[in-house]
Amino acid sequence: MSANENLTDRDAQVSWHPYTQHALEPAPLPVRSARGAVLVLEDGRELIDAISSWWAILHGHAEPRLLEVMAAQARELDHVLFAGCTHEPAVRLAESLIEVAPEGLSRVFFSDNGSTAVEVALKMVFQGWVHRGEEQRRTFVALEGAYHGDTFGAMAIGDPEPFFRPFEPLLFRARRVPARLDRVERAFDELGEEAAGIILEPLLQAAGGMILHGADFLRGVRAACDRRGLPLIADEVMTGFGRTGALFACGKAGIAPDLMCLSKGLTGGILPLAATLAREELFEAFLSSNRGRAFFHGHTFTAHPVGCAVALASLELCRERDVPARLEAIGARIQARIGELEPSLAPAVRRIGGVVAFDLPTPEGGTRGYLAERAPRLRREAIERGVLLRPLGDVLYAMPPACTRPEQCDRIAQVMVELARLTDD
Ligand code: PLP
Repeated sequence: MSANENLTDRDAQVSWHPYTQHALEPAPLPVRSARGAVLVLEDGRELIDAISSWWAILHGHAEPRLLEVMAAQARELDHVLFAGCTHEPAVRLAESLIEVAPEGLSRVFFSDNGSTAVEVALKMVFQGWVHRGEEQRRTFVALEGAYHGDTFGAMAIGDPEPFFRPFEPLLFRARRVPARLDRVERAFDELGEEAAGIILEPLLQAAGGMILHGADFLRGVRAACDRRGLPLIADEVMTGFGRTGALFACGKAGIAPDLMCLSKGLTGGILPLAATLAREELFEAFLSSNRGRAFFHGHTFTAHPVGCAVALASLELCRERDVPARLEAIGARIQARIGELEPSLAPAVRRIGGVVAFDLPTPEGGTRGYLAERAPRLRREAIERGVLLRPLGDVLYAMPPACTRPEQCDRIAQVMVELARLTDD
């Protein structure tokens, strides 16, 4: 038995993997190490990580600067609670995030992952309304096709299809609308005094199928919120840190949200950390002589010093290397290459920054969307060709890290084209 078989056999005995149908799916890939844009498997095979390990890895795997900072920070201060304590990495990171974030965001609340960054934003907004005597404002507007994470609050404002239907009886109600300004306005008007605010993924709805929205829509939503005094929560968990070709999608669209959720690329994608940024007025709504009006939310690893130090170093790298421009160039190259290799695909290819996607036609009688039957096969075929892709159902996309070299971009494009051709058989 090879070491490789050992690992997958052992895994099969003890692991429960995310978003995995264990009764159907093949054994997971045994990954030994990773460098740059490449994952190395136990048997020595190399794969280009064309999805940045769930949209997280930003600069590349094993980025030396981040690893050095990680080790140095762990030696200095490994962990301390953030209730009643503070530390240099957290304060410096908060200062830096406020400096680069869209204008008006002045407070940073740390947590561990994208879902919790969203939970924090929803709880802050609702408790803020309670403190202002408007506790009837409890309905959030959210977009069809939205994905904001897997915890209960995040599921409640996400689209129930295809993941969350079984949980529906346990979820609070949100008002879901298509991404059209008239529908957002109408929802606000119908909800009236019950409207709590709106949450959306700015410019790019990722898990919903890499769906792009124009900046005009976002600007319109901003104005609609302003007219009614409602908060706009921007979930930049995926779009943040250059993925759209700008540091933040909101900045690209020229708007500033009232709250902004960050994770994934925050630490360069190598450690779990998240942040929810808010405006001063919301923070002030919690100030009181009554201790019971504090924001009662916190996680054991809130503002983890090592995560914060690595995030700071990652932000410096973003600036030094102009990561948004690099990702833009990578996306443009993959898009152009797909068009050269298969001109008939070119009109279908959509792109924002470093994210390139196209839809495959659904075969007659086949399942549409995330659960499309052919997605696992496409993933397998891509792996055989040396590229890690994970189609969202019929949507084939790439989102590689900023270190991806031109020849690696070309390989990704080549494999995407080959997969598109395969679906004809
Ligand atoms: N928000 C968006 C826009 C996401 O794409 C994701 C994850 O893909 C999340 C939130 C949830 O983040 P996490 O998986 O870190 O909980």
